[in-house]
Amino acid sequence: MSQYSRLIFFGPPGAGKGTQAKKISQECNIPHIATGDILRNAIAQQTEIGKKAQSYVENGDLVPDDVLAALVRDRLQQPDAQAGWILDGFPRTLQQAHFLDQLLQELNSDYDLVIYLDVPDNILVQRLLGRGRKDDTEETIRHRLDVFHNETAEVINLYQQRNHFLQVDGNQPLPQVTERIKTLINQGS
Ligand code: AMP
Repeated sequence: MSQYSRLIFFGPPGAGKGTQAKKISQECNIPHIATGDILRNAIAQQTEIGKKAQSYVENGDLVPDDVLAALVRDRLQQPDAQAGWILDGFPRTLQQAHFLDQLLQELNSDYDLVIYLDVPDNILVQRLLGRGRKDDTEETIRHRLDVFHNETAEVINLYQQRNHFLQVDGNQPLPQVTERIKTLINQGS
């Protein structure tokens, strides 16, 4: 394998991780697995998962772990995910992180790199308000930042204690952040 291709992207809401993950996905030809996108899609189509997730997503709360576990288990076993993937928005809780460890072991796989996009809160609120997504009201934005700091930070701590954790300054122009991430991924060459 010429580069790191199984990547976990972390970052608070609004850090640009979705945008960066999409870019890297296209340039490196590996699927971008964004659990938020998958859930919003499922809600729009009113699938079983969508119905279970709807009220949580609309309130900016975390969808229950068992829903996410089933979704990620299925997605990582699709043919297009065999040569690599970018996980964006998962894992978000310690239970999800432990689930992912077990799943990857079961699939005889592992992750190569965890990338954390770091951006200060005040910049995040400005960026998110400008995005105008349906679940991006000022109230849900503040709530999602609280959820991130309260729950997801401990997941980041877990990965930080392991190898292959890299922090990137996300408060930079988009192309610069992309280049930085590509450099880190290519260190796997
Ligand atoms: P995002 O697009 O990543 O900001 O996710 C949007 C919403 O989807 C979140 O506010 C949660 O309600 C839900 N969601 C996405 N990923 C997860 C996850 N890993 N665990 C629980 N809820 C999630």
